[in-house]
Amino acid sequence: MPDREPGSQPARRVNVTFSPPTPNGDLHLGHLAGPVLNSDICARSQKILGSDVAFGTSTDDNQTYVVTTAARIGVTPEDLIQRALAEMTDSLQLGGIAVDLFERPDADYERFVRSFFTTLWQKGAFDQREVYLPYDDEAGAYRAEAFVTGRCPTCLAHARAGVCETCGLYNLPQALLPMVDDIGRLPRRPVRIWTLDLERYRAMIEAWYERSDVAMRPDLERVVRETLRDRLPYIPITYPIDWGIAVDWDGPDAPPQTINAWPEIYVGHVYWLNQARADTRGCDELVQFIGIDNGFYNAFVYLTLSLLGSEHGLPVTLPKTRTLTNQYYLLEGRKFSTSKGDVLWAGDYLRSAGRDRARFLLALTSPEVQKAEFVESVAADTLASLFDQPVTTIEAALGLLVGCEVGGLPSKWWQRAIDASVRRFEAAYDLAHFSVRGAAEALALHLEVLALRLETLDINDPAEISGVLTFLWTLRTLAWPVTPDLADNVARCFGQPAGQDPAGQDIVPLLDEIGRTPPGPLCSAELTRHQTLADHAFATGRSLAPSGI
Ligand SMILES: [Zn+2]
Repeated sequence: MPDREPGSQPARRVNVTFSPPTPNGDLHLGHLAGPVLNSDICARSQKILGSDVAFGTSTDDNQTYVVTTAARIGVTPEDLIQRALAEMTDSLQLGGIAVDLFERPDADYERFVRSFFTTLWQKGAFDQREVYLPYDDEAGAYRAEAFVTGRCPTCLAHARAGVCETCGLYNLPQALLPMVDDIGRLPRRPVRIWTLDLERYRAMIEAWYERSDVAMRPDLERVVRETLRDRLPYIPITYPIDWGIAVDWDGPDAPPQTINAWPEIYVGHVYWLNQARADTRGCDELVQFIGIDNGFYNAFVYLTLSLLGSEHGLPVTLPKTRTLTNQYYLLEGRKFSTSKGDVLWAGDYLRSAGRDRARFLLALTSPEVQKAEFVESVAADTLASLFDQPVTTIEAALGLLVGCEVGGLPSKWWQRAIDASVRRFEAAYDLAHFSVRGAAEALALHLEVLALRLETLDINDPAEISGVLTFLWTLRTLAWPVTPDLADNVARCFGQPAGQDPAGQDIVPLLDEIGRTPPGPLCSAELTRHQTLADHAFATGRSLAPSGI
């Protein structure tokens, strides 16, 4: 938390999280360009705006996708989770995703989740309902969620039971249009499960949206509008399967049921962000980054669980809640498909492009409100023209200015340029219209202007020298959320410590320091030489090892 002047307002507490990734493989470029990098840039930009930020999430171990993937590749689910957790942790670190916490569910987490849902069940929040699920006689097991595929009854895309990844809308357990596959051939058997009947809570949900002054991106707004138009669905809270957190609400003799992993995600956010803060005081604002496929659960199920939890005395607060969705990132026109091996892994791209260059490119092309596409040759051209060329020009020209320092006010030209760039970055970092594309575009223009102006700089004019050094110095703060290594290198060029000191403490450059003059002469022009790791989890020695379920 940044130091505050005595007597000043306490820093605004902002919690930032992204959808817990399913540990059935490493993060791919779509994850990174979407919720992962967006949330990191958000957490960092909130820090430079002076907020007290907690940023964390976990793996999503209880999704049935873990079991289906493990079966397909012939390993145990536990082996798959451990491998994926190690790969993801490595990718987050490579990408400079400065999470305070990235862990996996453990026994304490399970207790918290079970207790949360059991309390709501005791209060009568859930309804028992008979549904028909495919039953595999050979395995002696019901099949649900990832095991069940078909065509979405809303948009006709290929979908799995629970939610359609294409349109983001919910489908009831038996609503998919069945297709002829192994599961489609299974007989359906009736079984009683516990459900959250959202229609029961319609008034509460509608009142929340009427009161809310938080704008949604258009795709999420559509999910809310279209879902509210019809009877709200009921959501399975339990399934008669053995993967997940077991509950015994039907007594010790009844067949075991486990908590549906989708609603579990909300309770997981509460748990992990409390862990990240080491208190349960919550926050002033919660910012969640999700793919549109999580839109329905986020907009309806998490919301209802938070309202019910608050009503029934559970340790949840109801902060201002902002959900920032993203659309799909396509790989040369195709959807990333882990199962078909048609994928570009986040770690591979980060290693080949370098952290800052990868972050800049992915921010610039992030699928914020519509699908975006990654094409390797286009990405390379974009990086060459918008990042490499200006930075090379700047480094060469700055070499002539080593030893120079600010000796008076910047010229009018530079003052106006500084004001304009700060306003652009501020607009991109403002949560009301947060945009990583906007931040990357602001950075590209800042670099372009700096490179062009340096080419014709009058080095005998002190106001020009003051201007160029101050303009460069502002990047230490403005660029830190998008390209942390570049920002750290700017700090080093003026003999200042980088964004994280060797003890792992943040040296967060605050935006309200912008315009202050650089603290000393330019002592180096190396803008790209150093890369630093900015991973809090490692810096603070927090264990990332699997803790076992
Ligand atoms: Zn659909």
